[in-house]
Amino acid sequence: MKYKSVRDRCCQNEKCQDFRKYGERNIIRHSKYTTRQGRRRRYLCKTCEKTFCSTKGTPYYRLHKSRLDFDEVAQMTVEGVGTKKKPVWIFVAIEVWSRMWTSMVVGSRNYRNIKALLNHVIDTCQIVNPFIFTTDGFEPYSWAVKNLMSSICLYAQVIKKRRKNRVIKVERRLIIGTKQKNGTTPI
Ligand SMILES: [Zn+2]
Repeated sequence: MKYKSVRDRCCQNEKCQDFRKYGERNIIRHSKYTTRQGRRRRYLCKTCEKTFCSTKGTPYYRLHKSRLDFDEVAQMTVEGVGTKKKPVWIFVAIEVWSRMWTSMVVGSRNYRNIKALLNHVIDTCQIVNPFIFTTDGFEPYSWAVKNLMSSICLYAQVIKKRRKNRVIKVERRLIIGTKQKNGTTPI
C-alpha cells in the first residue's frame, strides 16, 4: 500500500540517516491517539521504521528546549514590476543570514504562486532547524504558511506603513508561535 508522504515533518530518530531532513519523502502518517489536550497524530519514518508524535520536531517542541535554535531566519519579499494595470510580481525567499535567494517565482500576486514559492523552499532547502519566517501583511501568505509550513517555522508578518516612500510605522504580527510571558515575541 502506498501512502502519501508528509512534507512538513522530518524523522526525530537521531540514529536515522534522514534525521531532521525535510523533503526526503520518508515520513507518512501512522496513527492517531488521544491526550488530555486532544487528538494527536503519530508519524512513521519509512527509512528507520520508527514512529514519533506530532509535537516532536516542531518549533513549539524545540522552543521549550532552547531558544538559541531560533537564530535561523527566512524572509519573503515581494516587489511589483511591470505596468500599473497588470503588475507582475517577483516573489523571493531569502535566507537572511547568508543573504541567499533560495527560491523565486514570477507572476500574479495570488495564492497559487505563493504556494509554488513555499513548496520550492521546502523541496530545495535542507531545513535542519525550525526557522522564523516573515512576510508582509498580504492575507493569502498566512493561509499558505499555515497549510504548508506550520510545523517547521514560526511565522510573523511585518507590516510597514509608508508615506512618501519613507517607512513611518512598522507593525509586527505573530501568526504562528507564542509570545513570551513578558509580552515580547521570540523574534
Ligand atoms: Zn527515520
